Amino acid sequence: MRLLTLFCVLLCLWQIPVAAGQSAQKSKKVNTQKPLADLVFVNGNIYTVNEKQPKAEAVAIKNGTILFVGSTRQAQNFIGKETKTIDLHGQTVVPGLTDAHCHLMGIGLRELQLNLEGTQSLDDFLNRVKERVAQSKKGEWVTGRGWIETFWQPPVFPTRQDLDRIAPDNPVFLNRADGHGAVANSLALKIAGISKDTPNPTGGEIMRDKTTGEPSGMLLDNANDLMEPHLPKITAVLAAKALQVGVERSLSLGWSTLHIAGNSLEEIALIKQLYAMGKIKIRLYNAVSGPGPAADKLLKDGPEIDLFDGRYTIRGIKLYMDGALGSKGAALLEKYSDYDTAGFLINKEEDLLPIMIAALKKGVQIETHAIGDRGNRTTLDWYQKAFDAVPNSTPKPAAARWRVEHAQIINPADIPRFAKMGVIPSMQPSHAIGDLFFAPSRLGMKRLEGAYAWKSLINAGSTIAGGTDAPVERGEPMIEFYAAVARKDQKGFSGEGWHPEQAVSREQALKMFTLWAAYAAFEEQKKGSLEPGKYADLTVLSADIMKIPEAEILKTRCTMTVVGGEVVYQSK
Ligand SMILES: [Zn+2]
Repeated sequence: MRLLTLFCVLLCLWQIPVAAGQSAQKSKKVNTQKPLADLVFVNGNIYTVNEKQPKAEAVAIKNGTILFVGSTRQAQNFIGKETKTIDLHGQTVVPGLTDAHCHLMGIGLRELQLNLEGTQSLDDFLNRVKERVAQSKKGEWVTGRGWIETFWQPPVFPTRQDLDRIAPDNPVFLNRADGHGAVANSLALKIAGISKDTPNPTGGEIMRDKTTGEPSGMLLDNANDLMEPHLPKITAVLAAKALQVGVERSLSLGWSTLHIAGNSLEEIALIKQLYAMGKIKIRLYNAVSGPGPAADKLLKDGPEIDLFDGRYTIRGIKLYMDGALGSKGAALLEKYSDYDTAGFLINKEEDLLPIMIAALKKGVQIETHAIGDRGNRTTLDWYQKAFDAVPNSTPKPAAARWRVEHAQIINPADIPRFAKMGVIPSMQPSHAIGDLFFAPSRLGMKRLEGAYAWKSLINAGSTIAGGTDAPVERGEPMIEFYAAVARKDQKGFSGEGWHPEQAVSREQALKMFTLWAAYAAFEEQKKGSLEPGKYADLTVLSADIMKIPEAEILKTRCTMTVVGGEVVYQSK
């Protein structure tokens, strides 16, 4: 026995260096041979967003990761018998695009429900609703979203009387595109028990007829919650369908990653199911809605990072500071120029600050919706209070990468605070070209200096995460890219107070939707540029958006989307 043991020990001791030597030799051998790729793209016009190697022709991919970026000739070294090669024939490639702010369920529901986008007048709007009412049974709810009255003549909110004329027997509830206002008809108001005597809820307004005091039908911000319990429930089947439809639409537009700006535990459970079944391929970075049960859970259990092979991360909490500019709910430091209010804050400090402090302790990212200059200043102030309360958090407050969603109207004194505090402005360029039509009258010329101030923020040292806020906006990358570099509406119009100097360069715009968006999700080591070791996420475009005339950007289409080395969308 003893002898045997001794023998074993000797053998083992003797074998260790031999084994190590063998494996060292083996890896040497492998190193002399280049690994072969699963997929190689050649003959492309590739913008890598990697400063060390900004342009390339070819990308080689293995196991969903980039192996090589460079010339078509060098890429041949990675092509073996099993390798698939795709000739791009000179098409333009950018890193997989990221929408840093959107509402996936809403994108899908917009496709599935009554879509009121692009209504040109009140009549046009009513005709579309009337059509849907005609298809509905008596008493059945008619819901939809997407209208914007600022495009109508005159630009006034619709009323319940307008809707009563076309829908006397169906409850109707229609969200404005921004989701911060909605119009209901009399039957819907009755069902929800909203009358002359209903007080305005905190952070919301039941708009009223000035003479009678009766509700006009318009509900702003938190007043929408009064309607919520009475609306038809979105079933799990419809919700799952909406998520899938939203994902498919996004992939077809060239998005490879979406940041979800607030959702529920139920939606997260559905998303996990869809991933587990292999039904969605896009990457998602998730902020849950707060305050509420989803935020409580995240603060208790901590972030969930890189689930489903690096496709799904739940790491943030979305909070709200104020409403929207369109519905005059944005909180301003001074009154609106065209309205006798300064807007309002939606939440109280004693409700949000404890969440912020708990998030810092747990490594949870906070992203707060702030539109008005008071909304933005207050958000930064409360962030600073949280940072001061937990100075030794991991990561440290300055590296916590908290975000302000929209950051639309900022007092110039607050612009440098973003970079100083390490707070990321997360902005949607299309908001500017939609809002700048009415912003001059609503805010006055002086305040516009800090409105949609992309360039000022970048010059002050910030990186901007670029998003679309779909379904509030269309959600198309080329509309956003165009808005960011042109700062003109889609017809090329730019009016007084639009501040063309706030437009960004094409390189900056591309970063907003790639590397800078990845940074806002702690993912810049894995995404946002095309370089070896990063995920093979690519967007192929029909034109060279870095060179073509501005107006042609809007005509550019996504021809292929690749996520993790898999072609998940290809145009026909
Ligand atoms: Zn949003």
